[in-house]
Amino acid sequence: MNAPVSMPHVMPTYGRLPIALSHGEGAYVWDTEGRRYLDALSGIAVNTLGHKHPKLTPALQDQVSKMIHCCNYYQVPLQEELARLLVERSGLTNVFFCNSGLEANEAALKIARKYGHEKGIDKAEVVVYEKAFHGRSIATLSATGNPKVHAGFEPLVEGFVRVPLNDIAALEEVARTHPNVTAVFLEVIQGEGGINPARAEYLQAVRKLCDEKGWLLMLDEVQCGMGRTGKWFAHQWTGIQPDVMPLAKGLGSGVPVGAVVCGPKAANVLQPGNHGTTFGGNPLAMRAGVETIKIMEEDQLLANAERVGQHLMAALRRELSELKGVGEIRGQGLMIGVELDRPCGAILTRAMEAGLLLSVTADKVIRLLPPLIFTTEQADETVAILAPLVRQFLSESAV
Ligand SMILES: *Cc1c(COP(=O)(O)O)cnc(C)c1O
Repeated sequence: MNAPVSMPHVMPTYGRLPIALSHGEGAYVWDTEGRRYLDALSGIAVNTLGHKHPKLTPALQDQVSKMIHCCNYYQVPLQEELARLLVERSGLTNVFFCNSGLEANEAALKIARKYGHEKGIDKAEVVVYEKAFHGRSIATLSATGNPKVHAGFEPLVEGFVRVPLNDIAALEEVARTHPNVTAVFLEVIQGEGGINPARAEYLQAVRKLCDEKGWLLMLDEVQCGMGRTGKWFAHQWTGIQPDVMPLAKGLGSGVPVGAVVCGPKAANVLQPGNHGTTFGGNPLAMRAGVETIKIMEEDQLLANAERVGQHLMAALRRELSELKGVGEIRGQGLMIGVELDRPCGAILTRAMEAGLLLSVTADKVIRLLPPLIFTTEQADETVAILAPLVRQFLSESAV
């Protein structure tokens, strides 16, 4: 390995690996030393179409040559086009555009509060979850269920009630004891928390309770949405619909963009003057979203994510399930976690050295989030690199 790349003028907010990536093609990326890596992380579920996609790249070049940004003083036809594509695919009705996951979640939380105010609830409360991750702003870190994300940033924003995932009795208890609740806010599959899926029956029961209580159901699909699980949105496996759905990560296939997609109960809560963003909905980001969705459809990437995801999951289970030290292997489509019985951050570095990019989250979960163009051959290549590393790691490290 080369010497650690030094970045003395950048704030030390990340523990960075000692490589710098220079370019990519498809599911492969190269570093500045010319080494090739199989990208099973896609920039944390962002590069939906992989790198240098032959249709996306010229479309973005075309957009840059026309207009990058114009601001929301004017009508932006590409916003309407992307909103229509999202509305058609979600069955919801209206979209607000922003630039990132936390911004989408901030908008959702503002909707939950104003929705309460309109019903005469002045101190609205939002139900959030243990192990949830919703972002790093003051409000979204307060909604996040990870003490490490809170530490040092107290006082946290008030107005959150926390429950465990997949425990409907806990939510019913909140319903009995917290009259100011206006919304329930959760990831369909917790990403940073360790690839923890909300069970279908649980989501169906939450939807029912939300309807009975007049609460908004807000599903953070920032990581699990946009085709990653093999449907446009992960909740579509369960037959329910949310009232509010924040999106970001994969939506622009690498161009920063966020969106809050709302159904009729939530779509008219924010009125002129209530919310805004300078960059949100800019033509470059909108074009990236429009082209991403069109290309996903032309290239049948939902079906690909489902098929390759099943192949990858089966291969991982075949190679790893029997090993002492390997816990659950779970997820859906191309969002997969392999849980070990011990912290395994070292696997991230070793995989990188062996030419494979992935992540480790919640200390013990190896997380795979490959681009939706991933092939079964690349899934096999992933397992061929990863399985021996896991075996080696478990044999030499203590619990
Ligand atoms: C990544 C993520 C966010 C935050 O998105 P940013 O773009 O980093 O602000 C929020 N929610 C979930 C579920 C995420 O995975």
